[in-house]
This record gives sequence, structure tokens and C-alpha cells, in this order.
Amino acid sequence: MRIETKCLHEGYHPQNGEPRALPIYQSTTYTYDSTEHIGKLFDLTAEGHFYSRISNPTVCAVEDKIAALEGGIGALCTTSGQAASLISILNILKAGDHFISVSKIYGGTINLFAVTLKKLGIECTFVDPDAPEEEIQKQFRPNTKAVFGETIANPALSVLDIEKFARLAHKNQVPLIVDNTFATPILCRPIEYGADIVIHSTTKYMDGHAVQLGGIIVDSGNFNWNNEKYPEFNEPDESYHGVIYTKDFGKSAYITKARVQLMRDIGAYPSAHAAFLLNLGLETLAVRMERHCSNAQKVAEYLNSVAKVENVNYPGLKNDPYYNLAQKYLPRGCSGVISFTIKGGRESAIKFMDGLQLASNVVHVADIRTCVLHPASSTHRQLTDEQLIAAGITPGLIRLSVGLEHIDDILEDLEQGLARI
Ligand SMILES: *Cc1c(COP(=O)(O)O)cnc(C)c1O
Repeated sequence: MRIETKCLHEGYHPQNGEPRALPIYQSTTYTYDSTEHIGKLFDLTAEGHFYSRISNPTVCAVEDKIAALEGGIGALCTTSGQAASLISILNILKAGDHFISVSKIYGGTINLFAVTLKKLGIECTFVDPDAPEEEIQKQFRPNTKAVFGETIANPALSVLDIEKFARLAHKNQVPLIVDNTFATPILCRPIEYGADIVIHSTTKYMDGHAVQLGGIIVDSGNFNWNNEKYPEFNEPDESYHGVIYTKDFGKSAYITKARVQLMRDIGAYPSAHAAFLLNLGLETLAVRMERHCSNAQKVAEYLNSVAKVENVNYPGLKNDPYYNLAQKYLPRGCSGVISFTIKGGRESAIKFMDGLQLASNVVHVADIRTCVLHPASSTHRQLTDEQLIAAGITPGLIRLSVGLEHIDDILEDLEQGLARI
């Protein structure tokens, strides 16, 4: 099946007489005929659902669909993108460990890595994604356990050289984790370029309609955890009757551990209803991404031609520093988000945004409706000026998420907004 078809048909395969649409299994628990069977479920020697903090049939259908879209062997849904980032790291690192992240990533992730994980004793070094390989290599330490990056950074819109980071990670025997939220598997599948783990905020394009908050972790199954750097994967798990993840689960060691150990303990599993809504979004993902890309390309070209606009970041523009990387990693389009700076800094940005009539001013992105946001006074408000610059954000930067409206209506709205300044 091509990816467009997978969006519709993967994950749920109804049998004779069963519902055509994915049912909502709104149940916390599942019945079995014997105590013995339930015992086996707890020992992980039998397959089946037993409690909806760990798995649920509706959520699992969505996990299977997204794993198929990304080319992974398994996936785990979470209640938010933040929970996916957290669990993807905690599944590998513990107090005393270190990891490397590129600096151009989502503001919430920077906070999680630089502040909250630090309190737990996990240290993160941020590196410039465009630095030469030798420079980045110098940041690896004996206790470095993972490398993290974002395919298209929110909101810097830099494109990650996934192969470069996969090479660096693998040379140091650690996995590469890629946040693929803005690209979606329709535009880029990081596993094909060497990423080991892919995560998403499904709140964004995957859902697309701004109705559910969610995240997902996808396991490529390619990383070899059978390595002394990762004792938790190779020694008996006391909290799970001595299970040894690499021995008992082979290629799915990572994703199984994330579910049965961390999800069990942290409890950030989405409801069946949230997964049902996410699935509706996924069914049209391929069609929507095509229009998001074509509308955004036209808007970026328009903004690029306006004298009042100081600069435009969109990797689909020929003069964008990430154009070449986008040609390689995003051949089908550069997604729907543009960031740009209007001459006159913060003040002009706010005047322009408040004057928009069609585009809504919301703390959201990657929605079917065009929306704008001022990162320096909202999502990235907690960052220092230094961190803002490292994340690719200037005080006057505007993030524009181009929706599915008619392109002329979007352009007319931007024109009248610009006329006010
Ligand atoms: C929004 C976002 C997140 C966080 O996801 P939530 O669903 O809001 O928790 C993580 N990464 C990226 C790239 C995002 O855009």
C-alpha cells in the first residue's frame, strides 16, 4: 500500500459484519475466563489488553497505523507530545546520564530537557545543528546515551540533516530520536535516513483539527540495545518479574519497555475517545498535507516579495539556508508553517497580528485553519534571550501556520494586515 492508502486502511481491519469505522472501546478493563490467563497477561507471556493505562484496542489501532506510516515496528500513544518526548528519553536515560540535543527545537522540549530533566539528574548538551560533525563529536561523553533533533524545527524552521546526526549517533553507539511533528510521515520518514526512534505531537497535523492533545513514540526496531551502555535493557527488570527486554522482546525491546514499565508507572495513556478523534485526522492526513504545502509555498513566496517583511523562513524558498536539505529530506513539500519578521520588530509584529481577520491568534499550530502566534511572548516566553537566539527566534518573529482555506483568502488577509503597519 502507498502511504495515502495506509492513512485509511492500516491499524484496523474489520472482519465480516464488524463496524466499518474504528469503534471507541471506552472501557478501563477487559474480562477473561480464568485467573490463570490474567496471570499470564501480567507476566507478559500472553497477549491481550488488561487495563487501559497500558493498552486499549482503539488506541492500539492508531498506534499500529502510525507505526506503519513511519515504517516502524511498533508505537506507543501518549496523552501529549510532551509526554512522548519525556518517555522517549526516560526509557533510555537515568540520573547520571547525558544526551545531546540540537538547539533548534520546540520551546517546551528545551524547557523539559534543560530544566526538568536536569532536576532528575539527566544532563543535556545543546548543539548547533549546522555545526560540522567534528565539532558535535566533541560533545559526546562516556555517559552519553542518546541524540535528539527535530525534522523541521518549531518555530525556527531549520531542516535537520538526519543522516549526519544518525551517523554521529551510531558512531558513538547511541540511538537517534527525531521529533517528526511538522513534517509528518507524509513528507519525511526519518527511519529511512537512520533515525532509531521517531516521536510526534499528534496534537498538530496528525489530528489537524485542534480537537485532541496527544503524542506518539515509534520504534524502528533497528537499534541494537544489546550493549553494555544500556543495562536496563539487558538485566532483569525487578519491577517486572525479571523480564530482560532484549532477550524476551528482541527487536521490540524499546517500545515494550516504554509501555509495560514507564507507561505503567507514569500513566500518560490517552483515552479511546482521543484516539478515535486522532484516527479521523489520520485518515485525511495525506490529502491535507498536500494542500498545506502548496498554500504555504505560495504564502512564503508572497511574503518574500513584500518590502515591509524583513525576512522569511521557509525551507521551500530557494533563498532559504535550508533549501538544499529540504530538497533532500522533504521532496513532497515543506509543510505548512512559515516564520517571518516584519520590519519594526516586536511592535509591528503585534500590530500586524492583531489586525488579521481570517487568521486567528491562537496558541496552536498545524491546524486546518490558518493561525498565527508570536513565540517570544507565548510559547517561548520562558526562554532567555540567549536561548531564544539558539532556538532561532527573534523578538519580532511571527509564526504563521497556513491552513486549508482558499489561497486568495489567505493572501488577502495578510495583505490587509500588512497595510495596517
Ligand atoms: C507542540 C509540539 C510538541 C509538544 O506537543 P504537545 O502535544 O503540545 O504536548 C513537541 N514537539 C513539537 C515539534 C511540537 O510542535
